[in-house]
Amino acid sequence: MSLRNYHPDTLAIHPELAGQVAEGFRNLATPVYRASTVVFDNSAQFKDRKRAAPWVYGTYGTPTTRALEVQVNISEGAADTCLAPSGLSALTLTYMALLRAGDHVLVPRNVYWPSRSFATDVLPQLGVAADFYDPLDLDALDRAFRPNTRLIWVETPGSVSFEVCDLPAICALARRHGAHVAVDNTWSAGRLLRPLELGADLSIQALTKYHAGHGDLVMGSVSCRDAVLGERVRRMRNALGLSISSDDCFLVLRGMQTMSLRLEELGRRTLAVARWLAEQPQVARVLHPALPDCPGHSIWKRDFSGSASVFSFEFAPSVSSEAADRWVDQLRVFRIGASWGGTCSLALRMSTAADWPVLRGELVRVNIGLEHPDDLFTDLSDAFDALRKT
Ligand SMILES: *Cc1c(COP(=O)(O)O)cnc(C)c1O
Repeated sequence: MSLRNYHPDTLAIHPELAGQVAEGFRNLATPVYRASTVVFDNSAQFKDRKRAAPWVYGTYGTPTTRALEVQVNISEGAADTCLAPSGLSALTLTYMALLRAGDHVLVPRNVYWPSRSFATDVLPQLGVAADFYDPLDLDALDRAFRPNTRLIWVETPGSVSFEVCDLPAICALARRHGAHVAVDNTWSAGRLLRPLELGADLSIQALTKYHAGHGDLVMGSVSCRDAVLGERVRRMRNALGLSISSDDCFLVLRGMQTMSLRLEELGRRTLAVARWLAEQPQVARVLHPALPDCPGHSIWKRDFSGSASVFSFEFAPSVSSEAADRWVDQLRVFRIGASWGGTCSLALRMSTAADWPVLRGELVRVNIGLEHPDDLFTDLSDAFDALRKT
């Protein structure tokens, strides 16, 4: 059939009928395949789609989402990796895939706050019990396992308070108790810490942070040490209908090309800021794993190959909550906002959970971005000057 037998409206919908195939074109960027509908050669192939067709429907993946899964899988050293629409959904997907009614899960007290909320607010509806454990007390942890404990979460360093726990020792305990270990590995970007090599079963990323790297999208991943677990996660992801934008995957694939460089430079600049903050008279304590007084510093030296761009500091006891708020509000280059790992420096007033009362003073969590370091130091100095004058 010749081209002119088709109406332009039809050809706009069927580029293949217009002869628009990219044969012979070769480039390096991963193509963005956008899809709800995936088409089949014939009815027989459609009927047998789960077995015979490589692609079924947009929800279950496209060549673009698969390309990113392969890259994250390589990065984490995993057997299988499954994307999720956000870092948080990667965490909740892991809970859903590994736990059944009657099971018990252990969650660290320094966990990312929305993960804690899922454990306390949603898991009871599903008949799953959760307990919170002190990640620095392995004897107490040993006693916290129950016969029905199927999963233990680890976050290292901890959200907000940044202590480092002994992941290999926790993995050994979990193995004895027959529980899987899932690590929220976002801080390390999967590069500074290798949880699957240290005995964990699952490594979860908020790709939102260093992989995307520019503060402009949310995405997550679940990487599994063995393919059977990977299949369990993928089946739950598909059952829940968690689908991923191919456009966003393109941006994450692009971000991953420069991730190591950004991470290395951000780590260096961040440590310089952390050390400078530690010298300020209005600062009582800097919570950064590469500083010797951070709990778990020696474990960090043993297990990690570097440090990331996010950490916290506590003001001296003389600085009130209101003064700490004003200090943050005074900043001009640092912006107030959640998330981290992008190009923009951020400062946020935060606190730890009631059952993790490790703070003595008012806390600020800082993310260092890629602005010129001189401007960051000037911004911080100006805020301390203003604090002294009030
Ligand atoms: C940001 C973050 C998440 C959640 O990622 P989103 O993509 O924002 O949902 C999970 N865990 C940690 C440690 C994080 O910092």
